[in-house]
Amino acid sequence: MSDTAKMTGEEMMALARELYPICRSITGDGVRKTLDILGNHLALERREVPSGTPVLDWTVPREWNIRDAWIKDADGKRVVDFAASNLHVVNYSVPVPAQRMSLEELQPHLHSLEDRPELVPYRTTYYDENWGFCLSHRQREALEPGEYEVCIDSSLEDGALSYGELLIPGTSEEEVLISAHVCHPSLANDNLSGIALATAFAKALSTSPRRLSYRFVFAPGTIGAISWLAANREAVARVRHGLTLVCIGNDDGLRYKRSLDGDAPIDRAVEAVLERSGETCFVRDFHPYGYDERQYNSPGFRIPVGSLSRGQHGEFPEYHTSADDLSFIRGDRLEGALDTLFETARILDTNRQYRSLAPFGEPQLGRRGLYRAMGGETNPADLSIAMLWTLQLADGEHDLLAMAERSGLDFEVVARAAALLEEHELLEAIG
Ligand code: ZN
Repeated sequence: MSDTAKMTGEEMMALARELYPICRSITGDGVRKTLDILGNHLALERREVPSGTPVLDWTVPREWNIRDAWIKDADGKRVVDFAASNLHVVNYSVPVPAQRMSLEELQPHLHSLEDRPELVPYRTTYYDENWGFCLSHRQREALEPGEYEVCIDSSLEDGALSYGELLIPGTSEEEVLISAHVCHPSLANDNLSGIALATAFAKALSTSPRRLSYRFVFAPGTIGAISWLAANREAVARVRHGLTLVCIGNDDGLRYKRSLDGDAPIDRAVEAVLERSGETCFVRDFHPYGYDERQYNSPGFRIPVGSLSRGQHGEFPEYHTSADDLSFIRGDRLEGALDTLFETARILDTNRQYRSLAPFGEPQLGRRGLYRAMGGETNPADLSIAMLWTLQLADGEHDLLAMAERSGLDFEVVARAAALLEEHELLEAIG
């Protein structure tokens, strides 16, 4: 891959900064604007699914858009202002024409965090027609009793749900699905880090030929992934591996949540990469709470999709608050995650099952010059042991990852041994 195709951490941060002010939601112009910006980097195909479309067990909701919202005090001063931060309005709030109400009447519509009084929470009301404002607890406590004017200049109308999709073909039709949610407004780690990382990964893959095809889906959480699945019921059979990229730009070790299967090649590939990364990494089993890996792993689809993140969602204190801002994510953390994705892609591309073509007893390696081939290796002992392991396990059942696990050797050494044996017609790759 050329250097120009690989976005630096700073370039990923620049993309996150560009996307940060946009008020995204599960539908509406915020998602379209986001996809437009990603379109400056990728040849994304835009899909629009009309409101009311049945998608699996769901229905695409009406489209939400917002222009302005405020709470004004008796002097007409905006004390809570959507223009200052889009987190101040409960996402998907129904329109509220300008009207006066007492603080008492307003209170049930206010959301703050008593235990973190400086932070503004992020709240949504997608499937419940309601409205509200979010503010810091400090701000809320400073509101004097009396009359306020409130207004939410939003609309909830028939429209569409938008998502973006990109297929980067490899030599094989087998696909790897990379999915990032694009429905959160001004929150950096929880969705911009995943969006920027997926964009950088797609951009780099576009210029580097490979075996596996890659499909990128940039869709609103849950309903977007469900809409994509509904439109691709047949096509998903080609998807062999997948990852959701979420909350991955903060200063924390990489975390991998396994697919439901738990032992799929994607699980073993990511774990192999994390093991040798030298970083403190965490691996946890699948659980049915989190992001769109829930949809992809559901019984009707069972696509082995794991989730790569840093702060486990819901387990970092900045989660879904105004503290998840641009200062919470870092370019070097995104770059580290990008390297992990490249290495995982390389393993997935190379990983195959092998069958020995000389399975009866040990083939005579010396006669084939395979000992000489080891002469130039920096660690000849590893390569020769890897050849023996590979021949021993080449029963058509074990893949290279399994051989690396069983032997305790690095995946690359095992892969090189298999390539050498294949060249000498002692092994054949299956599938
Ligand atoms: Zn979230």
